[in-house]
Amino acid sequence: MAFEGLAERLQGTLNKITGKGKINEADVKEMMREVRFALIEADVNLKVVKSFVKTVSERAVGQDVMKSLTPGQQVVKIVKDELTNLMGGEQNPIQFARKSPTVIMMVGLQGAGKTTTTGKLATVLRKKHNKNPLLVAADIYRPAAIQQLETLGKQISVPVFSMGTDQSPVEIARRAMEEAEKEHNDVVIIDTAGRLHVDEALMQELKDIRELTKPDEVFLVVDAMTGQDAVNVAKSFDEMIGITGVVLTKLDGDTRGGAALSIRTVTEKPIKFVGMGEKMDALESFHPERMASRILG
Ligand code: GDP
Repeated sequence: MAFEGLAERLQGTLNKITGKGKINEADVKEMMREVRFALIEADVNLKVVKSFVKTVSERAVGQDVMKSLTPGQQVVKIVKDELTNLMGGEQNPIQFARKSPTVIMMVGLQGAGKTTTTGKLATVLRKKHNKNPLLVAADIYRPAAIQQLETLGKQISVPVFSMGTDQSPVEIARRAMEEAEKEHNDVVIIDTAGRLHVDEALMQELKDIRELTKPDEVFLVVDAMTGQDAVNVAKSFDEMIGITGVVLTKLDGDTRGGAALSIRTVTEKPIKFVGMGEKMDALESFHPERMASRILG
């Protein structure tokens, strides 16, 4: 389960304080020491841990909390509020274009789950938003990627536009836009190339596709299980090409949760979706408050 370790530790720590009729600053200090430890162990970015602990401590030692009848429960509520804030507060919906088609660019490193997520996103768009998406296979460097997208498209009955590996990704994107116009697709999802590392050539290609297609959303797909690496990748992509949101995959296997808790603060970009499995229906909208509740039990 996601956040397993963190959930267990935080719940254990907070349980100790919940039942107390009275708490003092020393209790809060002691609790925050354990909270800090739990967050670090969950691989949360250090700066994020520090500011989180500071905010919670300041709120928790406030007069209204200390003098309340249920100070322990108030503190738990503060921790939950601040965890929610850490993950972005409000849920962040997809931005649709005023005039169709909406263009969504999928970017990310190889293996993060970009192609799978492209298929999952098409499923969400069809089922939840009644859209008629077109998927675009623009990863020409990994021939298997084109095939993979075509197979997924068949499986979910969504058309896939591909031109093999001989045309440039920019040309493929251009032709795909024409195709969408002709076929009245109201969303175009472009599956771009991934590499093993962030590199100049990849970034230039993504910038060119962005220039041409003027996407409404640029979703970075990152693997939650890579923890702080995912956060660093998000920072690089955002600085180099500008992203509008993050899709955090493999949260089903992420027992720590460091990426989920750090990305928003470090990049200031929202997590829009989370991948909870390999199947085509395993993409969920990211709800910070629900996630915080899940962590705190
Ligand atoms: P790409 O190289 O970024 O396009 O990555 P793929 O889409 O090929 O995905 C890489 C692997 O991760 C595949 O085996 C996927 O089934 C798997 N995967 C993708 N998303 C998830 C997820 O949310 N949960 C789990 N458990 N596996 C996932």
